Amino acid sequence: MILIDGKKAAAELREELRKEVVELKNKHNKVPGLTVILIGDLTPSQIYVRNKEKSAKEVGLKSEVIKYPDSVEEKVILDKIDELNKDDTVSGILVQLPLPKHIDKQKIIEAINPSKDVDGFHPMNVGNLSSGYESSVPCTPLGCYLLIKKIEPNLSGKKAVIIGRSNLNGKPMTQLLLKENCTVTITHSRTKDLKAECLEADILVAAVGIPELVKEDWVKKDAIVIDVGINKTDKGIVGDVAFDEVSKSARAITPVPGGVGPMTIACLLKNTVECFKRSQL
Ligand code: NAD
Repeated sequence: MILIDGKKAAAELREELRKEVVELKNKHNKVPGLTVILIGDLTPSQIYVRNKEKSAKEVGLKSEVIKYPDSVEEKVILDKIDELNKDDTVSGILVQLPLPKHIDKQKIIEAINPSKDVDGFHPMNVGNLSSGYESSVPCTPLGCYLLIKKIEPNLSGKKAVIIGRSNLNGKPMTQLLLKENCTVTITHSRTKDLKAECLEADILVAAVGIPELVKEDWVKKDAIVIDVGINKTDKGIVGDVAFDEVSKSARAITPVPGGVGPMTIACLLKNTVECFKRSQL
């Protein structure tokens, strides 16, 4: 069994990006810039944003965090996004979710110039991804995809099963694997026989949010298992896959923590560098 080490893969990706940023600086005399907007004082969001800022600086990006109180008016955020859209030193804009209730999430997402949308949530990027065109891809599924490709570079004809159909994870994951010529099944809370679907998978991606939902007898021998779930339980943080059981028969599996999680931020940096490169064409 291969334990897919997300921490190591993320460190390797950051190192590649660091070198690329040096080359880009030499070529263009400027570096990619990432601006994060953080609204309110939700602790998990603050931790994510701090980690994003730290990682961005490590790879040599220009990084900025703009903070607003919970009570900030939607228009203030829309005006700031407009300003950042026009700012040449900003390659990527990210508005940390979740947002306070009085702010319309979709309006905010759609205000970001799609060419600076490092989260890949803008409908233009969603459409481009599903049409097979160049686009920013949401960071978590992009990280999963890169981990899968490390284990199995040729995915053509493989049967992939995704559990969860969120815009954040399941749907973009489906598109990425379709592009690799997998036969993809996307399952969700109304799927009739989830175990039977999972048993078909050469590649199984679980993005549900239910602790240890996927059991050993749900997984085909030699499957690649990617666990996106992050669930707080009495025994600590666990994924959507019963790791101790499933790791006995899987060909490769991501642990939680230390699997998909570390790749998410590294992919945000990758998206920022890609947005910068496209803006220089
Ligand atoms: P979500 O709540 O938006 O979507 C969950 C999906 O699971 C839905 O499509 C739903 O239909 C499906 N589902 C619910 N119950 C089910 C069941 N019993 N059987 C089959 N499908 C079922 O969640 P999300 O935002 O996609 O996140 C999923 C998990 O991934 C969460 O645990 C979240 O914390 C984690 N997550 C991790 C990262 C990371 O960086 N590792 C990033 C984002 C989210």
